[in-house]
Amino acid sequence: MDYPNNRAEAKATGAKFYFTGIACSRGHIALRKTKGSCTECMKEDWKIDNEKRKEKPKSEAAKEAGRRYYERNKEVVKARSNARPIEEKRTHRNKHKQENPELYKALTSVRKRRHRDATPRWITAEQKLDMRKLYLHAQKLTAMTGERYVVDHIVPLISPEVCGLHVPWNLRVITQDENLKKSNKLLDT
Ligand SMILES: [Zn+2]
Repeated sequence: MDYPNNRAEAKATGAKFYFTGIACSRGHIALRKTKGSCTECMKEDWKIDNEKRKEKPKSEAAKEAGRRYYERNKEVVKARSNARPIEEKRTHRNKHKQENPELYKALTSVRKRRHRDATPRWITAEQKLDMRKLYLHAQKLTAMTGERYVVDHIVPLISPEVCGLHVPWNLRVITQDENLKKSNKLLDT
């Protein structure tokens, strides 16, 4: 593509960009916007602004707008979040956890109650110990590999068809990524 080589010419011909071939003050040799500046500088500034915006806590109005958007576009939002790389999902989850400690405390107690409710009375002390060992094993693997390992219920404790039990033979240690894939699959079906 041929661009005008100065702003005056760009203005005169109505072109949106021009190219001087000279480095900008930050050293970019890039297109310049007729109604703006160096396009690479604009990209950099946009990135910095965006990072700053992300760091700022959201106002109640912004949160409310987000919720409304989600209600109207549930399917799109879910599909978009499922398509994100797992690494990104993990970072997002960790951040959410840090920002909502009370919520996660509540979730933990729900999980504990669910485990208790799904534990049959006839389970032996030895079997209980086996289960505790599995949780410790998951922790150890996480610490050793850096990848997060979790204890998964092979037959989910709560499912539309059959509900699984909190017993050693229904438990296995898998990575959190595998576990997420599994729960996404369950949600899909
Ligand atoms: Zn520049």
